[in-house]
Amino acid sequence: MDNTTLKSLLIEYDKKRKNAEDTANRYKQDLYEKFPDLLEIDKKINTLAISTMKEISQNGDKELVSNLNVKIDALKKEKDAILKSIGKEAELIHPHYECSKCSDTGYITENNQTRMCNCLKQRIYDIEYNKSNMSALKKQNFETLNLFVYSDKANIDKYNSDISPRENMKLIIKICHDFIDNFDDIENKNLLFTGKTGLGKTFLSSCIANELLKKGKTVLYHTASVMLDTVIDYHFRKI
Ligand SMILES: [Zn+2]
Repeated sequence: MDNTTLKSLLIEYDKKRKNAEDTANRYKQDLYEKFPDLLEIDKKINTLAISTMKEISQNGDKELVSNLNVKIDALKKEKDAILKSIGKEAELIHPHYECSKCSDTGYITENNQTRMCNCLKQRIYDIEYNKSNMSALKKQNFETLNLFVYSDKANIDKYNSDISPRENMKLIIKICHDFIDNFDDIENKNLLFTGKTGLGKTFLSSCIANELLKKGKTVLYHTASVMLDTVIDYHFRKI
């Protein structure tokens, strides 16, 4: 991967994160003016939180720490009651990040381990590999899939199957949905679509890709490779 892609993405992430935090902060300042009690409560919570940290790092008196926490909890309840009285608008006090998983930092730290968030991974894939395919992909989803393009007449000689192409497509769609629903299950096998051009392999692959993107998964596009008469469009593989 080209390092400049990651660098420019991190600058973009930094900007959107700061924007979200600045907007929330401005709203908070407005609230403080309208509701001075909120400002007082926040000041008290901050002071108590500092005292708690000091106590933990210096004397470690558990009873004192517990008393401080009880006071903080009581103040938080008081604050919540005021915010509740303001209504839904009060939610603006929290930054509205595009990605709630990484708070627009691009990275997630869990159990002392830091890893790249899927949102950042997907942006890199889109820029580095998916490029122009992404716009076509977005238009191809289960909502726009038209089953009527498939014949409802069974013809065993022509299709080598005793069910109609439409019925067959419904079965394939069911398999696709099962694959999406069980994507995180390691026992869930990968999917490989094969067949001649024009049968809907790319479309179905895009449908799956879109559903996985909605679930916060990453999608990497491979260009089609031609093997004899069979075109392999996508190969879904959990990476
Ligand atoms: Zn993220």
